[in-house]
Amino acid sequence: KEFSEVSIKDINQIAKSSFPLCMRHLFEKLREDHHLKHGGRMQLGLFLKGVGLKLEDALAFWKAEFSQKVGAERFDKEYAYSIRHNYGREGKRTDYTPYSCQKIISSTPGVGDHHGCPYRHFSEENLRAALCRMGVNSGAMEDVMEKVRNRHYQLACTITFEAIHGSSYDAGINHPNQYFTDSQKILKS
Ligand code: SF4
Repeated sequence: KEFSEVSIKDINQIAKSSFPLCMRHLFEKLREDHHLKHGGRMQLGLFLKGVGLKLEDALAFWKAEFSQKVGAERFDKEYAYSIRHNYGREGKRTDYTPYSCQKIISSTPGVGDHHGCPYRHFSEENLRAALCRMGVNSGAMEDVMEKVRNRHYQLACTITFEAIHGSSYDAGINHPNQYFTDSQKILKS
């Protein structure tokens, strides 16, 4: 596979250039709060696995953040298991797959949760601010907002992708890992 491995040192950069908004948001919140609730850990953790972060690196990545909040010992005790679990190294040893857009869009984040799809779950004000920070121009912004009003969240995400990468994207976004892979393809070509 072309982009099968990603290391921790590249992660800030690829998050900025190639993560869809749902994952950028989780990533930024994790960096900011040094913590994510269960739904966010699952959504981002499985995405990162799909991106090519190996188990050892995933453990180091999550530990570096969570330790600052709960301490290294509590991380090892309470959180490391579920990360190994996501990689199929614990429990039933299922190799869990990253969530699709459909699954993320239909999730129901509660107070203090940061998972979900921003096009569906953010307020208009927060969504506009987030898109602005991603570098979406005002023309594309209004196109995105129109799609959102009509509940075409994946089309809104596709327009964002096109605006940021400066190229059309006929396939349409239906998976965050597809967004990532195709972004990397464009940026590396
Ligand atoms: Fe993420 Fe899919 Fe929503 Fe885009 S449409 S932000 S990839 S869940």
